[in-house]
Amino acid sequence: MTLDSIKEEILNAKDIVILTHEMPDGDAVGSSLAVYNSLKQLGKTVDLVIPEYPKNFAFLPGAKEIKKEGKDTSYDLSIVLDCSDVKRLNGFSNYFEQANKTINIDHHGVNTMFADLNFVNPASPACAQILVTVLEYLGIEIDKNIGTCLVAGIITDTGGFKYQGVTAETFEFAAGLLNKGVNISDVYRKVFQVITKEAFELRKVAIDRLEFFENGKISFTYTTKEDEERINTSTGDHEGIVELGRDIEGVEVSVYLREVENGYKASLRSTEYVNVADICLLFGGGGHIKAAGCNLQMSLEQGKEKIINEVKKYIK
Ligand code: 5GP
Ligand code: MN
Repeated sequence: MTLDSIKEEILNAKDIVILTHEMPDGDAVGSSLAVYNSLKQLGKTVDLVIPEYPKNFAFLPGAKEIKKEGKDTSYDLSIVLDCSDVKRLNGFSNYFEQANKTINIDHHGVNTMFADLNFVNPASPACAQILVTVLEYLGIEIDKNIGTCLVAGIITDTGGFKYQGVTAETFEFAAGLLNKGVNISDVYRKVFQVITKEAFELRKVAIDRLEFFENGKISFTYTTKEDEERINTSTGDHEGIVELGRDIEGVEVSVYLREVENGYKASLRSTEYVNVADICLLFGGGGHIKAAGCNLQMSLEQGKEKIINEVKKYIK
């Protein structure tokens, strides 16, 4: 069984590197820190390498120990979390490729099973939720610190316990953590509700530009690098913009284009029936049925036209 092999590899490894996807969200950071704190509990030498992450996760236990770079020599083991494709490790896949053994723990249906050992459950609403099972199997005591990291991941990826992917287990687990002293309402506020002033200013711009297609079933908005420079945003300040469109009555698909290096990053969200992962796959991206993304190496006008035309085909 994969979990037995995962346990064996972790117990045998002396030094371990933990990695997650580029532009990490709360599930990426929370899952990584939960595993980091757990491996420390086992007495392992472990590096968690995340070059940049949104500062609202900086309060999570262990976050101060996150490294921007790993060591030059190879690690015994590399554990990759919440990452569907090795390409999404972007600039730091060298630590993965050089490691003697690799483990991939994830919840994306489109996961490419890129590691030596792959533990992927698309039925789980967050990678952090899969980790509950994995960590318990490893004999880790899920204490308040580890629980805080896990709950941050679950809250982020379930939109605050409200998306359809949420399972009874999600609430059972949250209840168990409350009993262990995890302050869920505090974590909820910090990871989900509080936004920086700059994020608020960027939202204002995005709301002002929001337009509708197909009788209000598609919403579209965008932000540019110039906006981000003018407002002086930092990593993660664009998070949540795509949800603003989806929350409007009648909208089935919300599209948000954010200007990045060489083009635009598209974020798509759907409400009921459109599989946005399928649409993003057409553009070389992926994700989940109701939340997906892709990179568009083209102008704003071209990107907008291509995406909207594709989404229109799915609208009933
Ligand atoms: P977001 O819109 O928040 O950036 O991403 C939503 C979901 O789509 C996330 O689960 C993320 O992992 C996935 N996703 C976003 N961009 C890409 C991409 O370029 N490639 C793949 N495979 N998945 C993506
Ligand atoms: Mn996730």
